[in-house]
Amino acid sequence: MHHFDYRDGRLYAEGIDVAKLAGDIGTPFYVYSEATLRRHISVFSNAFSDTDILVAYSVKANSNLAILRILANEGAGADVVSGGELARALKAGIPPQKIVFSGVGKTEEEMRAALEAGIYQFNVESEPELDVLDALSLKLGKQAPVAIRANPDVAAGGHDKISTGRKEDKFGVAWADARRLYAKARAMKGVLIKGLDLHIGSQISELAPFEAAFRKAADLITDLRADGCAIERLDLGGGLGIPYGAGAVPPHPDEYAKLIKRVTAPLNVQLIFEPGRMIAGNAGILVTRVIYDKKGEARRFLIVDAAMNDLIRPALYDAHHDILPVAKHAEASDVTYDVVGPVCESSDFFAKARKLPEVAPGEYVAIMSAGAYGAVQASQYNSRPLVPEVLVNGDKYALIRRRPSLEDMLSLESNPEWLD
Ligand SMILES: *Cc1c(COP(=O)(O)O)cnc(C)c1O
Repeated sequence: MHHFDYRDGRLYAEGIDVAKLAGDIGTPFYVYSEATLRRHISVFSNAFSDTDILVAYSVKANSNLAILRILANEGAGADVVSGGELARALKAGIPPQKIVFSGVGKTEEEMRAALEAGIYQFNVESEPELDVLDALSLKLGKQAPVAIRANPDVAAGGHDKISTGRKEDKFGVAWADARRLYAKARAMKGVLIKGLDLHIGSQISELAPFEAAFRKAADLITDLRADGCAIERLDLGGGLGIPYGAGAVPPHPDEYAKLIKRVTAPLNVQLIFEPGRMIAGNAGILVTRVIYDKKGEARRFLIVDAAMNDLIRPALYDAHHDILPVAKHAEASDVTYDVVGPVCESSDFFAKARKLPEVAPGEYVAIMSAGAYGAVQASQYNSRPLVPEVLVNGDKYALIRRRPSLEDMLSLESNPEWLD
């Protein structure tokens, strides 16, 4: 469910007319619906209202400070994967006691910042990381609360590039090695074992892989407790998919919750979740203007002013995004377009052979479901300025990240003195 709907043939973001907004901001830009974000986090939390949980929003899905502030106000914590994301989460007002730190390559510097902030949990992803964390905590006179991320060897996720829980993936420690590592961690003075962590992938649209992984986790907790480890928390990661308008329709959070409660009830653990896409995905759209309607030899190309540097998901993951005209014309007939950007790469496209109502140069189209893994993956490739972000709340809107000027962009670069 989201709050992007037509009123008399014009697309609105909550109470804001998207075409008018485009006139004010200039295209391309992202627009997010605050009501949608709030709704998603509460649907998720309500599904577990009778359970002890921490919802640690996965910051990497959309890390804009205003988005994080909304989620902080809703009581969410954060799952961060870098020192930069930790700084953002703290700046947005997310309490350190609600922050977990994931990622395979945490540096000592990042660990230090997290220890000094007093975060809730480190999700440790390898033995060398455990060694470094232990030594650093001892040096700082602290004890790091840890969960070890174990890899259940379950294939899941909407695309090969977003499956994370198979043997060949770089994440977590081998399932068969987990008990040895927990025994090692137990003997360490710089770390304190709190829980078990897993995260098997993203855009998962069926319950079966979750169930397979979570059952394995429940068994492992039983074994770890038999080994003498006090496991109080189970971090089940993120990964619940969203409807993109094509492909499988993922389960509702209520069904996901029912499965989890069934599998984990006997364990008596606090559950931690790291949803990202499920919170932010359908809360954002990318608005772009048609530059040309190019009738190629074999295809008709709708060339728009957004590009793969603004939203890379189609190029990177073959992702489907619905594309809607911002103004619907009753008389428009459908045309089959390749919707592409101006970047000089063949992979710069948003849709291939897509049927859309005919749109003219100068008109706007909206690329839907772009709130997660959109703006955060944007770059300045082809010297295109980073795409701005707008937040809508009812009939108010605010620019929450401005478009950098060319001067801003060039100011980071300089000639070495020998070229001057
Ligand atoms: C990316 C990621 C998530 C969020 O995944 P979604 O599919 O967006 O819910 C959660 N946890 C970890 C460790 C991640 O890397």
